[in-house]
Amino acid sequence: MEKNARLIAVERDTEGICLAALEMLTESLYVEERRRTLRAIEQSADPAAALKAGAGDRKFACGYYIWVAYLFSIEARIQAGIPMELTATDAEGLLALREARVRFDNEHPQCRCGRRMKNDLEKVQGMCTACKDAG
Ligand SMILES: [Zn+2]
Repeated sequence: MEKNARLIAVERDTEGICLAALEMLTESLYVEERRRTLRAIEQSADPAAALKAGAGDRKFACGYYIWVAYLFSIEARIQAGIPMELTATDAEGLLALREARVRFDNEHPQCRCGRRMKNDLEKVQGMCTACKDAG
């Protein structure tokens, strides 16, 4: 009962869903960094401590990310043209995802090379650091 009540709360917290989705989209920018962290953890003498130090801190309860992952999956199916029956809650969640993408686009505009800009410096210079360094 407790568990269900919590799940329903997650589904209906559209602002929370939006922010958790934004967090996941942002995390996708740092795949390389994560891979490096993972390698460092594997090679560490004390993997548990290294894991603790290297773990990203997510803002929301785990249920949010599970729900957002579900929403991403139904969004992908819809985009692929697979017919789906959506509940009102699904539809609201998809709107929250769309809002998250709008915020993500504002925070991380695309560089001319296709990469997303990661920080304010890149936004100010109008291109990613790789393009800047390439001259
Ligand atoms: Zn670039």
